Amino acid sequence: MSRYWSDIVHRLTPYVPGEQPVIAHPVKLNTNENPYPPSPRVREAIQQELGDAGESLRSYPDPTARKLRETVAAYHGIRPEQVFAGNGSDEVLALTFQALLKHDKPLLFPDITYSFYPTYARLFEVDYRTIALDDSFAIHVDDYTAPNGGVLFPNPNAPTGRPLPLADIERLVAKNTESVVVIDEAYVDFGAESAVTLIDRYPNLLVIHTVSKSRSLAGMRVGFAFGNPELIDALNRVKDSFNSYPLDRLAQVAAIAAYEDDAWFRDTCTKVIASRERLAAGLTALGFEVVPSAANLLFARHEGYDAATLVARLREKEIFVRHFKAARIDQHLRISIGTDAECDILLDALRDIFSAYVG
Ligand SMILES: *Cc1c(COP(=O)(O)O)cnc(C)c1O
Repeated sequence: MSRYWSDIVHRLTPYVPGEQPVIAHPVKLNTNENPYPPSPRVREAIQQELGDAGESLRSYPDPTARKLRETVAAYHGIRPEQVFAGNGSDEVLALTFQALLKHDKPLLFPDITYSFYPTYARLFEVDYRTIALDDSFAIHVDDYTAPNGGVLFPNPNAPTGRPLPLADIERLVAKNTESVVVIDEAYVDFGAESAVTLIDRYPNLLVIHTVSKSRSLAGMRVGFAFGNPELIDALNRVKDSFNSYPLDRLAQVAAIAAYEDDAWFRDTCTKVIASRERLAAGLTALGFEVVPSAANLLFARHEGYDAATLVARLREKEIFVRHFKAARIDQHLRISIGTDAECDILLDALRDIFSAYVG
């Protein structure tokens, strides 16, 4: 606290990202990073952009990331004017709150969802109301009919991994014509249906993607919004009132290379999905209740063991998983999908902890 702080800083509750441990070889299953490296073409593209002496870094990057937007538009069969590129999808979300979700009526999002949403709402002074998920953590789109200044949720949802069928999203978007529906598809490539195919038909739909999870590029900070050119224009106006160059040169070429190597991308997703099903079976065999997931994470609880205690015991073994001290989910663990070897280390550690457990 300081008297120099602005009012808004006094009132903030900042988002707390998962721990980035500084030890040599953690089993890191707490921030939904991809366990596999990006396409080798990414490294080549970065080296080529850099040149022998790094001379390209003298000059500013393309402020509109034109080539990247063209590449991603072609990938999805849409037009570059329907694509916005930003510094990670968190930044794209922040710009979306300011450009499209701040209105007289409250923004609606689920009570259990990506915990950055309420943080942004407070930072940008966006009034919001939460809508309860059902007891199996499912979203029911017919619960989102109140007059609103926007609707926002991830598909699959975070931190549960539970997907929603595309038909439900289309029904919501078709009904909710007075405000923008934002679908955050950070995990869509691991088994859910993308709503990008709907943007030509619905001018009130904005879909958000990231290269952080399925394309193994969390370290580059690249995210996108897809939607009607009028929505994209709003994002560009806010961006150009804040930071004209959100994507550096290396991030732009890296992301282009990642989209150009589709075989690598699909192979990586296939491996993660197979490991997810294998880990889900392993956890179930240990007595966990596992939420059906279409993401690169599992959300699971065990009746017999306190979640916070499990997290602490795993941490002693240098295994990191995520736990949220929030209503309804404080007995759940969120476990990112690692390699099969990492998942086995986790299962063995849980078996050890259970056999020695004193609550
Ligand atoms: C990881 C995640 C993001 C943020 O992704 P970045 O592109 O790395 O900023 C956004 N939304 C959800 C639901 C996420 O899980």
